[in-house]
Amino acid sequence: MTLSIPRFQFLYSLNLNDFLMEHIENDEQYAGLTVNKGIQQPPSVNPYLKKMRTARRRIYTAGEYVEGIRKGDISMLSQAVTLVESNLYEHQVLAQEVIAKCLPYSGTSVRIGITGVPGAGKSTSIDAFGLHVLKQGHKLAVLAIDPSSERSKGSILGDKTRMEKLSVQNDVFIRPSPSAGSLGGVARKTRETVVLCEAAGFDTVFVETVGVGQSETAVHSMVDFFLLIQLAGTGDELQGIKRGIMEMADGIVINKADGDNVERARLAQAQFRNALHLFPPTPSGWQPQVLTYSGYYELGIAEVWEMIDNYIAFVRENGYFERKRQEQAKYWMFETIDEQLKEHFYRNPEIEKMLQEKERLVLLSQESSFVAAKEVLDCYFSLKSLPE
Ligand code: GDP
Repeated sequence: MTLSIPRFQFLYSLNLNDFLMEHIENDEQYAGLTVNKGIQQPPSVNPYLKKMRTARRRIYTAGEYVEGIRKGDISMLSQAVTLVESNLYEHQVLAQEVIAKCLPYSGTSVRIGITGVPGAGKSTSIDAFGLHVLKQGHKLAVLAIDPSSERSKGSILGDKTRMEKLSVQNDVFIRPSPSAGSLGGVARKTRETVVLCEAAGFDTVFVETVGVGQSETAVHSMVDFFLLIQLAGTGDELQGIKRGIMEMADGIVINKADGDNVERARLAQAQFRNALHLFPPTPSGWQPQVLTYSGYYELGIAEVWEMIDNYIAFVRENGYFERKRQEQAKYWMFETIDEQLKEHFYRNPEIEKMLQEKERLVLLSQESSFVAAKEVLDCYFSLKSLPE
């Protein structure tokens, strides 16, 4: 009889039920006594809890949501945001009604986009910037657009535990990134959440994103000021930063300017300033500034905020603030159309089936990509009823 020894090695990683099932003496080839499977282990979480929770939470009417939001009821706001994030058709219908009713009360906040690579100190800085904003008597909402949550299905940004000081304050609403769907979809939901937050009386909104991909463009198109957090000390600060991201920035701030790092931060500041001079003038007429600060030691925070205040005053004065908001409204209309067209298309069961077949034919070189695409599109346009 040959019993494979390596099986023992992974027994350690199994839970008790699996262990009993996988027990070596239960092997078909084993001739001795078998080990009883034993009793089923109870789940570690009370299964009734979920039911109890769902039973208690009822769906309100759009009017009730709006009334709660307008009163600044955080629980109502959170539930409305959950509706916005839901992909269920009936939730979306209700969410759109709530958004439409909140729109007249929106547009009132100063929206600030904050980006930087992982480790740049975004959460530490948001903690520090947020406290500064609160001290000035503002109400702050912290939202996020996190493209990586598409893959992980769990958000890494906006997590309350990452902003320890802020999360225990009143007048703060922290919401992680919506986690499902395309970047366009995730960004749209965040954009809609801004509307709800503003209707709830939040007059300052931070939208955080990781500075590594397309999400900056999405954030840029929903904020008034775009802040790029950078680090000094690598000696090649300007490398690896996409020119496009630098061009979007209204302010570049070099974090961790503390201890031994102060001089390096100053050097990086000079390098960034020189680099920015080579860029064409910004459409706002504002010359982007470069500052150093320390989020951790809360040094230079007031100066960063003064820069943002100055920018807002400058663009309100020259009319760019309004113009940009109008441009953004237009952008989101087209973005939403693009996104929803794609969703309608790819979610159609007939199209889904046809695409699988066409993909196979294209891979076998039995049909050209263009012919296949045309046939699928022709089929879509000839469909009588489009999915909801
Ligand atoms: P994020 O990934 O961009 O959100 O970055 P975090 O805020 O999590 O910060 C990454 C690391 O840098 C953490 O270990 C922080 O403690 C550290 N850090 C953040 N800000 C500062 C700062 O101003 N000075 C110093 N010395 N360290 C900082």
